[in-house]
Amino acid sequence: MRNWAKSRTRGRKLHSTGAKARAGRASKSRADLERQLKTCKQEIANARERLVEATKQQTATSEMLRIISDSPLQSVLDAVAEHAARLCDSNNAEIYRLDNNVLRLVASYGELPVHIQARGGFPANRDRVIGRAVCDRRSVHVHDLAAEDSEYPLGSSDAKRQGHRTTLGTPLLRERTPIGVILFRRWEVRPFSDNQIALLETFADQAAIAIENVRLLEAEKQRALALAHANRDLAQREAKVRRLVDANIIGIFIFDLEGRIVEANDAFLQMVGYDQEDFIAGSVRWADLTPPEWRDRDERAVTELKETGTVQPYEREYFRKDGSRVPILIGSAAFDEQRGHGVAFVLDLTERKQAEAEARQSEQKYREMQTELAHANRVATMGQLAASIAHEVKQPVAAMVTNAQAGLSWLGAQPPNLEKAWQTFGYIVSDGMRARDVVDRIRDMIKKAQPRKQLLNINDAVREVIELVRGETMKNGISVHTFLTEGTPPLEGDRVQLQQVMLNLVMNAVEAMNATSEDARELLISTRQTERDVVLVEVRDTGPGLAPATLNQLFDAFYTTKPGGLGLGLSICRSIIEAHGGRLSAKANVPRGAIFEFSLPAAPDVAKQPAVVSAT
Ligand code: ADP
Repeated sequence: MRNWAKSRTRGRKLHSTGAKARAGRASKSRADLERQLKTCKQEIANARERLVEATKQQTATSEMLRIISDSPLQSVLDAVAEHAARLCDSNNAEIYRLDNNVLRLVASYGELPVHIQARGGFPANRDRVIGRAVCDRRSVHVHDLAAEDSEYPLGSSDAKRQGHRTTLGTPLLRERTPIGVILFRRWEVRPFSDNQIALLETFADQAAIAIENVRLLEAEKQRALALAHANRDLAQREAKVRRLVDANIIGIFIFDLEGRIVEANDAFLQMVGYDQEDFIAGSVRWADLTPPEWRDRDERAVTELKETGTVQPYEREYFRKDGSRVPILIGSAAFDEQRGHGVAFVLDLTERKQAEAEARQSEQKYREMQTELAHANRVATMGQLAASIAHEVKQPVAAMVTNAQAGLSWLGAQPPNLEKAWQTFGYIVSDGMRARDVVDRIRDMIKKAQPRKQLLNINDAVREVIELVRGETMKNGISVHTFLTEGTPPLEGDRVQLQQVMLNLVMNAVEAMNATSEDARELLISTRQTERDVVLVEVRDTGPGLAPATLNQLFDAFYTTKPGGLGLGLSICRSIIEAHGGRLSAKANVPRGAIFEFSLPAAPDVAKQPAVVSAT
């Protein structure tokens, strides 16, 4: 028992020693454990804090990305300011963009101090926190800006005025180049933690990327928009060109510089007489349409097209399918930069050329008419001068008579004086030759003036005269009116001479109207039938008119009131009209001006006459 007890005691002793040791060990390991636990707790707290911050950052970042993906730049900047302010627990956040070395406020969030200057921008220099962050390309953290007069003179005075203290400026960098700054402010001195600063820097980097993305996105959108506009314009232009091609108002064909006509519209096909199939088969080339003498011009056009992209319109000819030629006007433009394809615009000039030829013909006709009239004028003038010419003839004839009488006397003398008679006959011969010369001259002059009687329509003759004087009347601002009664009977007479009369009357009227300062210059030419067989032609003007006292003298030869006038016109006109069996007279027009009128008998027995010869 004792042993047991001893052993128990011993055992107790032993037990108590071991327990002590165990207890010591246990308390040590508990302290260790507690320490470890504390460390673990700290680590967990740190990890949680990091996790919270990371989550905050991630949330903010993904929120940013969401905003970026479908927002305009301003919304992105506003979101950046808001998230940044919240993340770092600052009273406000501002974003500045760097533009030509000036920092301009573009977004802000939180309680805002009043600073009007911000909108105008701050120079990016070292006097303010934002400028310093840009210059040094790193975050600038100032615990109490109000106390930093010497380091940040302007920033510090802003701080004192506006009431902010701890300030952090973080640059927004794009590939190490500052594009702006985010500025954080606290109203009290409470520096940002290293974690916060690191977080904000990461955030600033992402914000810079986001801004850049938005910028790129905007640029891309602009490019896409411009492309869409360009495509729409192109489509509209193509539609217009297509409408032009299909409208067939002018000929259009598309060609390549290897000589093929790739496409042509109906207007062009009609011009050259080909079918669409001819061109589709590729057997017809534009060189085939070109007559040999136009080949050089063709080559010049190709060079022009290659150099400038267009060919100025020029006139030329094409061969039709049947070998005939068509005159055209052609211009062309290259389709593409390589200038391998082009479009040609072709106008058919056939009608214009015909009209030109006709105009040339009628011009020629009028020139001939004018020559004829001028000739008739000369002949008629000669008629007037016949009196003075007769005088020239009379003289040698009288001399011949005198000399012949003298010759007879010499021959009748006893004995006959042959020598004197011989001499006298010599005089007679030379007088005769002088008279013959005079007669020859007259004959030469009037040779062409053989009266040519023909049936004529007086209205046609008047129209031709009006055409002749159109230039003169237009030049003098005279308006010409006609009142030509249709169905007047035809006349028989010399068209040229009668037109010469009209021409004289019209030119006198023009000259008379030119002599007045009256504005209304009007010429009226009318025709009508007065009696059954009489046709009347009237020329009325609005000139100064005729003094009653001069009415009788007007038709006298050499009566003129014009400085360079001959005074023969009206007397010649009267002779011509009278030679045609008519009458020419003058009277006053009302309210002013003169009327010259002549009547002519209609051709006898019109019904039996051949068809009227029209003057046109
Ligand atoms: P000229 O024209 O050479 O003078 P004319 O015999 O044709 O010769 O005309 C004679 C004159 O008659 C003119 O000088 C002019 O005084 C007068 N006379 C002719 N026509 C007109 C007219 N339409 N109005 C006024 N006077 C006219």
